[in-house]
Amino acid sequence: MSDDVSLPEPTPTSSDAPAYAEIALLRALPGRDALTYAVPAAWRGRVRRGMRVVAPLGTRHETGIVVALHPAPPADVAGIREIVEVLDAEAIVSDEIFELCRWSARYYLAGLADVLAVALPGGLRARSARMLRVADAAAVASNALEAAVLERVRDSDGGLTVTALDRALALPGVARAVRALVRRGALASEELRQGPSVTTRYATIVALVRTLEPAEAAALGRRAPRQLACYERLLAAPGRRLDAATLDPGDRAAARALVKRAVAERARVERYRDLGTTASPAHVPELTAAQRVAIDAVAPDAFRTFLLHGVTGSGKTEVYLRLAARTRAAGRAVLMLVPEIALTHQLVVRAQERFGETVALVHSGLAPGQRWDEWRRIARGEARVVVGTRSAIFAPLVDLGLVIVDEEHDAAYKQDEGLRYHGRDLAIVRAKLANVPVVLGSATPSVESHQQALDGKYHRLALPERVRGRPLPQVTIVDLRSPAGRPVAQGVASAAAAATPSEARESGTPLFSPVLLTAIEETLGRGEQTLLFLNRRGFASAMHCLVCGEPAGCPSCSVSLTLHRRRAALLCHPCGYARAARAAACPSCTRGTLVAMGLGTERIEAEVSARFPGARVGRLDRDTTARRGAHRRILEAWSGGKLDVLIGTQMVAKGHDVPGVTLVGVLLADVALSMPDFRAGERAFQLLTQVAGRAGRGALPGRVVVQTYRPTHHSLVAAATHDYESFAPAELATRRETAYPPFARLAVLRFEGPDFDRTGACAERLAASARAAATAQGVLLRGPAPAPLERLRGRYRWQLVLTASGARPLHETLAALQAAWRASPDARTVRLVVDVDPVSML
Ligand code: ADP
Ligand code: ZN
Repeated sequence: MSDDVSLPEPTPTSSDAPAYAEIALLRALPGRDALTYAVPAAWRGRVRRGMRVVAPLGTRHETGIVVALHPAPPADVAGIREIVEVLDAEAIVSDEIFELCRWSARYYLAGLADVLAVALPGGLRARSARMLRVADAAAVASNALEAAVLERVRDSDGGLTVTALDRALALPGVARAVRALVRRGALASEELRQGPSVTTRYATIVALVRTLEPAEAAALGRRAPRQLACYERLLAAPGRRLDAATLDPGDRAAARALVKRAVAERARVERYRDLGTTASPAHVPELTAAQRVAIDAVAPDAFRTFLLHGVTGSGKTEVYLRLAARTRAAGRAVLMLVPEIALTHQLVVRAQERFGETVALVHSGLAPGQRWDEWRRIARGEARVVVGTRSAIFAPLVDLGLVIVDEEHDAAYKQDEGLRYHGRDLAIVRAKLANVPVVLGSATPSVESHQQALDGKYHRLALPERVRGRPLPQVTIVDLRSPAGRPVAQGVASAAAAATPSEARESGTPLFSPVLLTAIEETLGRGEQTLLFLNRRGFASAMHCLVCGEPAGCPSCSVSLTLHRRRAALLCHPCGYARAARAAACPSCTRGTLVAMGLGTERIEAEVSARFPGARVGRLDRDTTARRGAHRRILEAWSGGKLDVLIGTQMVAKGHDVPGVTLVGVLLADVALSMPDFRAGERAFQLLTQVAGRAGRGALPGRVVVQTYRPTHHSLVAAATHDYESFAPAELATRRETAYPPFARLAVLRFEGPDFDRTGACAERLAASARAAATAQGVLLRGPAPAPLERLRGRYRWQLVLTASGARPLHETLAALQAAWRASPDARTVRLVVDVDPVSML
């Protein structure tokens, strides 16, 4: 419940308050971030920066945020229109957040509206719809469709939206018929404005305003025992107030009487939606020497970027919590980012245990109303610790004192649609704007961050060992090319190879090598837990035709379909297209039948259950976690020891600290290695190190079995030996040679259009128009070439890659290209997406 007892009173209007407001509309207008409107006299002085208002735009209305107030209109603008509504009583966007939004818009070449759409909770726009009503009762329809339209609109008293009409009639050409009828004056179309879909909730409370003298209380008890009982309940209630909705009718009458006696008072207060996370104080461990050194190095109250490089299980989280506690003790707020929603819960619990105060949670999985409540709690300074995923970087913390980015190397920090921002990079920007330290933590820092540390731009902090002297797990690499799945001498190779070759190669696809099978059996026998990792969901990765050999592909994407057996469907992972698996005749030659090839997590689950009937088996991937709360349930069963084997995609690789896990099996490390991306080797190294790091975190030592066809790949070998120090220089050398980050700045321009050749031609025209200027600036243009994922959701994709040695020439070239594109007729048929510092090059 909010501490504000009621909404702030509107400030009395004053005639000398600014009469013009610059509004950042929440709808993107290419090239324009804000428009100026007049503030009607009645609202002057009440409209402040950071509040939402509704203003006319064309023939409709749009919601916007006040970014500035001016006494006079800008000289070059004529016909200024008036704001029609003010939606807030207090600012919802602070100057600091605006600054970060503006910075992001400039850096990522996006509109301010696109940034605000990411930064703010959803549902804050006032809605507007077009309503149809009959304007001329005598109007005649000129065809059957028009007649149907007229009849529907007539029957709906009060009008109908075009969308609703379209849905109700379900006939082609409805919109055209409507336009014709409006033109002839038979129908009128008017805008209907409604409030935002997300609203603030209120509760009525009864609050004690005066305590009674003992004699007075005794007298009340004799005359009105019910009132005394109600009074005593109020006295004992937290904050001496009760939610009126929780009182029964008798108590309500008693409360009314107390209000009449001026002992209590009724008020309307804001009520926050409850996220239901609570925790009790937990034990605080003694710091290790390395942890202490790291913590002491982070000077408060000044901007600096720290790279906390600590092996898995080295106690990085403890470092975050201690730094956070120190920041809170100084009265300042803390922002902690994790790469995935799934990781927020455990950090919220740990932070709540530690600080005994409410921790706000910000991620895209919250309902809009919950996000709105968290936003206000944070902006009002009621929540001083925020845990969230990348979008939480825009959380409106007051007096921010520390920013933490856990698993800084994680690709999930980069948003891949809309505003293509990088949460880690914005964390550094935000810390700089606030002049506070930012700590980037990882067991496998991105080579970009590593290079910054080598250059002395980031301050490196190291936790080279696991806490309590626990060893890192032993890693065995199993060569799937050898018939028996022989372990090759890598890392601390161990485990004897037994069993027959046929067991390792079923239906042409090896699932479990004898080494892994034996290890699972032993682990089950000891009552310990096994984690099996495969970075591919579904049952089989593709369905191939036995006659023509073609894989069954998605009709609108250039990828093959994955078999999901439990759903009995073939799915396209990028776009979600599904078709029944039963009718799986080859779509290419129509003669052959399709057979499953390759593996996915669903298949592994089936295999494990079949081979180890007594084992309690669970699976964690996008399919099993589609339902709200499913993710948490599976992980709780896992960490509570109610599962013996957990199979999963990269979801299982990150962050979870489950002490009972002593075996980690990587079914096919090659999946990560074979991505067509310059970061594939780095990703594979990170993923394998992370997933291996889930083993042996408790008192029992862990071991890891990695199955692969490429046992000598440097990423695998380095991960197996936990050797970042040999991995990073090799990776950096390659990046330097090929002019990729961190030795160059990258941006991708992606062209998406309905036709392959024409889209390519558009890309070529734009590239040709800019090549000379770019070269003069030292910016290299590579391509255009078809994107690795050539077709997605029915659109063909081409890309042009820009490389520069510095951010400035890159941005100047990008801005010029963007402007040229907007002016070009190609922009009408082909979409251009600008991705600065791309993470996925697909
Ligand atoms: P990381 O994030 O580096 O993988 P965690 O912070 O999850 O590691 O720590 C691993 C385990 O060690 C956790 O169970 C944590 O509670 C425990 N731990 C952390 N620091 C200490 C310490 N100084 N003494 C004892 N246990 C610790
Ligand atoms: Zn598809």
